[in-house]
Amino acid sequence: MSSINKQKIVDSVPQKGFFGHPKGLFTLFFTEFWERFSYYGMRAILVYYMYYEVSKGGLGLEEGTALAIMSIYGSLVYMSGVIGGWLADRIFGTSKAVFYGGILIMFGHIALSFPGSLSMFFVSMVLIVLGTGLLKPNVSTVVGEMYAENDTRRDAAFSIFYMGINMGAFLAPLLTGALMKSYGFHWGFALAAIGMFFGLVVFLITKKKSLGLAGTYVPNPLNAAEKKKYGSLTALVVIALAVILGITIPNGMFTLDVFINLVGIFGILAPTIYFIIMYRSPKTTATERSRVLAYIPLFIAAVMFWAIQEQGSTILAAYADKRTQLDFMGIEISPAWFQSLNPLFIILLAPIFAGMWVKLGDRQPTIPQKFAMGLLFAGLSFLVILLPGYFSGEDALVSPLWLVLSYFIVVLGELMLSPVGLSATTKLAPEAFSAQTMSLWFLASAGAQALNAQLVRFYSADSEMLYFGSIGGAAIALSIILFLLAPKIQVFMKGVK
Ligand code: GLU
Ligand code: ASP
Repeated sequence: MSSINKQKIVDSVPQKGFFGHPKGLFTLFFTEFWERFSYYGMRAILVYYMYYEVSKGGLGLEEGTALAIMSIYGSLVYMSGVIGGWLADRIFGTSKAVFYGGILIMFGHIALSFPGSLSMFFVSMVLIVLGTGLLKPNVSTVVGEMYAENDTRRDAAFSIFYMGINMGAFLAPLLTGALMKSYGFHWGFALAAIGMFFGLVVFLITKKKSLGLAGTYVPNPLNAAEKKKYGSLTALVVIALAVILGITIPNGMFTLDVFINLVGIFGILAPTIYFIIMYRSPKTTATERSRVLAYIPLFIAAVMFWAIQEQGSTILAAYADKRTQLDFMGIEISPAWFQSLNPLFIILLAPIFAGMWVKLGDRQPTIPQKFAMGLLFAGLSFLVILLPGYFSGEDALVSPLWLVLSYFIVVLGELMLSPVGLSATTKLAPEAFSAQTMSLWFLASAGAQALNAQLVRFYSADSEMLYFGSIGGAAIALSIILFLLAPKIQVFMKGVK
């Protein structure tokens, strides 16, 4: 988008109205609040829905399969952000992408709200994957569009937005978890659908007055020849997929395992291809090429970090259900409620971390050092959850406080890595790829969960110490390597801080 267009957008947005920020931030804050409410509310009970027996309202899948599906689901949700970002950039503009995404997500949750079968679940999964790909990266892009390039409120805007994400993620599991317990899974999923409905209402009602032209531009529209080219390409891919699936599914060749492996390969391949394209593009300058190289180890660290963080809603969710005492001080806890701990700690600690960075000023750790520390805490969070097995054996029910501690430690890492991650991506990705940096950053989460789909299959209650120990240990080893490499990476970053 030209800088003239950028300025025109900023001029069209009312610059006040929400705590000293453009009132459009209110619109985006609540849209994303409700979207994350629906996503994390659904995820908090989905894993149980998959592996609980049919007599308990579940689908009766094997636990390992359920955990692997949770992971590929999470991976695909973030992978589809690449398509969502591209569609907004070249066809719809961000605002329409957010709206269409919200509709798909809402129908995805509605599909789960009716007692149904495994096929209904897969329909819902496709809708939510596509919908989140359209909504999630684009809603964040609109936040950035409302502020002039040098507006000092920009960082604060993203911090406020990040609070919205985590407030939605905090509230939802408490409610869907309670509904699951008292009325059954489908009421929980229905609440997720209602949440997304509220998000859409807020977006539609307030966007005209508050967002101005933000989100309405198509930054890099397709020309006629490209339209034709991409149109035929899409048709070709759809036909090829239909043929391949049409042959392999009835033959029993396209099993869940095959699918999991394919997503696994793609999760690693997609960012690799991205890096090669960025590195080799004629539009990338020599300085930018060096920055791409510096970004690779940071990206790998992010993948490992998110792999552990995301296991909070898979492996640790199963741990909460099966290994944890759920009647605690007279209260009967829903295992889904543990999913509220991560966002709760984020909300409580984010301001403290932000204040700490301001106070430290120039003495704060460098970006690679922050990534290394993020990874260190992730590793420690897994070593901590190994301890109850060590002290009380792998069969005894353990105190829920162990899980609380583990979620707390991973959040210390998340606050080191997550808020700087996106801005580091923006600064290190070549200028020609700036429209796609959001999707590039989400590919770390996609890769992480593709990796998880492989890892979670090794988890079983009687090997839990080995499982947590080896993954936690690997993260700590990687973190030490990153610490040692940090000064070198800083040189390759060519002045980026
Ligand atoms: N939990 C954050 C969110 O939902 C981070 C996402 C990620 O990068 O994986 O926005
Ligand atoms: N902390 C995550 C994110 O920032 C939310 C979660 O894992 O529940 O949104």
